[in-house]
Parts: sequence; structure tokens; C-alpha cells
Amino acid sequence: MKFQQNVDLQSLNTMAVPSVARYFFIAQTLEDIRLALAFASKEKLSVFVLGGGSNSLLPEKLDGLVIQPLLKGVECIENSAESSWVRAGAGENWHDFVMHCLSAQYYGLENLAYIPGLVGAAPIQNIGAYGVELKDVFHSLEAMDRATGEMQTFNFSDCEFAYRESVFKNRLKDRMIIASVTFRLQRQAACNLSYPALASALEREADGKNPEKVAEAVIKLRQRKLPDPEYIPNAGSFFKNPVITEAKASALKLAHPKAVIFDVDGSHKKVAAGWLIDAAGWKGREAFQVRVHDQQALVLTNPNRVSRHHILTLADAIRKDIEQRFGITLEREPGLFSE
Ligand SMILES: Cc1cc2nc3c(=O)[nH]c(=O)nc-3n(C[C@H](O)[C@H](O)[C@H](O)COP(=O)(O)OP(=O)(O)OC[C@H]3O[C@@H](n4cnc5c(N)ncnc54)[C@H](O)[C@@H]3O)c2cc1C
Repeated sequence: MKFQQNVDLQSLNTMAVPSVARYFFIAQTLEDIRLALAFASKEKLSVFVLGGGSNSLLPEKLDGLVIQPLLKGVECIENSAESSWVRAGAGENWHDFVMHCLSAQYYGLENLAYIPGLVGAAPIQNIGAYGVELKDVFHSLEAMDRATGEMQTFNFSDCEFAYRESVFKNRLKDRMIIASVTFRLQRQAACNLSYPALASALEREADGKNPEKVAEAVIKLRQRKLPDPEYIPNAGSFFKNPVITEAKASALKLAHPKAVIFDVDGSHKKVAAGWLIDAAGWKGREAFQVRVHDQQALVLTNPNRVSRHHILTLADAIRKDIEQRFGITLEREPGLFSE
């Protein structure tokens, strides 16, 4: 059992914020996780779970034990004429898993290509991109109860998925460690082109559309729009797209005809948070040593690798400004590890 002490986590979070963990432990098996939990309980340490660090704003000091579950393995556990059930360990790299499924002809994940992070974190915020959310292909997951060390299976309805939400961010926050996730994927190639920018990127394809081309187009679009965290530290979208009432959306459109608004249901609409931030003049600006990305106002970047305090100060200034100008409240997407 190797518990490292005073570990620098700056290279383990894509925002590159300086952060030091009192104890850090990589778990490769369920037994490793149980032993780590027992150590934390004996030493009275708080426990934090870190995946790929691409949706987290770490504090400068994590006074406790950070467990990184790196359980590996991808296997097809069942087949029917239409579907394959594929299970992946929490420690698998998400994008590599998507590409593996594609090459094995298990379809349905391609719109979610090139999202950073590990498989185990993907259900936490029900990751989504280009017209697909994890919930659309999710079958079940296995997780360990941090209090008892017992394994539990969570089926679709147990997870309470919603837009960038799940039960693991709410009622069961900090209670479970996800060990593996099982997806129900399709054996027949089909393309989801419901997202307009993806559909138009593929319109130019002369020799037909297929899931491989969808993945390729998604990767190209993402590479064009989003900064690569390896060179420009960031955590992807910093705010969720706010959901507002139909009446508020109509008023917004009247005042700002160029506002980007999507349908949600009969009485609600979603506003592009990136449009709001851009319209308020924040795009490309630097404040508190943190930047609003010049290609996509929804992304805050941390070129100076400063602490999360600076990032949260800028985020707060943006949130207040948007509230004042548009009467709409922005909600942060990356999570805070409690201190
Ligand atoms: C450039 C960029 C683009 C992005 N694009 C998108 C996008 O298109 N769509 C989208 O939805 N997200 C996007 N994200 C956000 C991020 O990639 C996803 O949320 C991803 O799933 C986070 O994975 P991670 O392993 O890095 O999680 P981490 O940041 O390590 O953890 C996130 C949360 O999950 C918890 N957690 C992690 N692993 C486990 C586990 N095994 N068991 C229990 N809890 C766990 C952590 O405690 C934390 O609360 C983007 C991020 C970046 C940097």
C-alpha cells in the first residue's frame, strides 16, 4: 500500500491550479480502494476522489487523502441482434474508450469523442456534447459505498440523470466511488446529426456519413473551438447553459435578436451561456490573471497557472455582470473539492 505524502496535483488537473494533497493514492483494484478507505478512517482523514482532473477546481491544500481510482479493463459482456453491452473500468481514458468501441463496431458514443477525463467521472455530470448525453447510451454502473466498502449496482433510473446532473452530484454526493460503467451500444451503424454544427460539418462529405466520420468531425470541431489543456489550461465549459422560461426567452430575443436560444420543452428554453458572456463583452478579456478564451467565451483559461481563488473571482465578476445585464443566473460547471 503506497500512500504518497504532500503530492503536487498541478499536473493532475487540466486547469493547472497549484494544489498539494496531504496523502495521494492510486487504486488499481477494489481491494485497493477498500484499504485506502480503511486508512482514511483510521487516520481520520477526509477522502477526495480524483479522475482525470478535467472538471475540478482544486484548492491549494487538500488536507486529507486523494484517491485516484484507476481500475482498468474493457469487455463486451453481452450481445443481442441489435445491441452490445460493453463494460469499462473507471480508470479508462474516456476518449480512448470511445475510439476503441468505434473500432470494435459498437456504435453510439462517437458524438462524445475527445471529451477529456476518465470513464468513472463521465456519469457524475452526465457528460454531453453534439446532441448526445451519456444517459442515452448508459446501461448501469458499479460503485463502492464509501461508508461500508460494499458494492452497489446503479441502473438508469437510480442515477437520476439530467442536464450535467446525476444523483452523484446531489443526494449521493461524495458517497460512492464508481468502479465501472456499462453501456448499451448499437451493432448497426447509425449517425446522430441532430446538432446543427455537426450536421453541416458532415454535409460536405461526398462519400456518405458513418459513425467514423462523425467521430472525425467531432474531433475536428472540438480541436478548432476548444483550447488544448496541455498548452492552455482550462476545464472546458465553465458555466452551464441556463434554462429559462419561455416568456423570459421571448423577452431576451426581442431585446437581443442575435441571442442563441435552444428548445428544451413546451415551457422552457436554454440560452447559450457563451453568447451571454460574449454579448457582455468578456470574450478574450483577462482579469485576476485568468482569461476568457478568445474563441469561445464559455471557457475560462488559466495561462498563468494561478490558484482557483483567482478563477473563482473572475467567474463571480462574470456571473454578477450577466445577472445585472440579462437577469439570468449562471451556474458553474466544474466542481469544487471541499477543503
Ligand atoms: C477541454 C475540455 C473540454 C470538455 N468538454 C466537455 C464536454 O463536451 N461535455 C462535458 O460534459 N464535459 C466536458 N468537459 C468536462 C470534463 O471533461 C468531464 O466532466 C469529464 O467527465 C471529467 O472527467 P475527469 O475524470 O477529468 O473528472 P474529475 O475532474 O477528476 O472529477 C470530476 C468529479 O467526479 C468525481 N469523480 C471522478 N472519478 C470518480 C469516480 N471513479 N467515482 C466517483 N466520483 C468520481 C470527482 O470527485 C469530481 O467531483 C471538458 C473538459 C475540458 C478540459
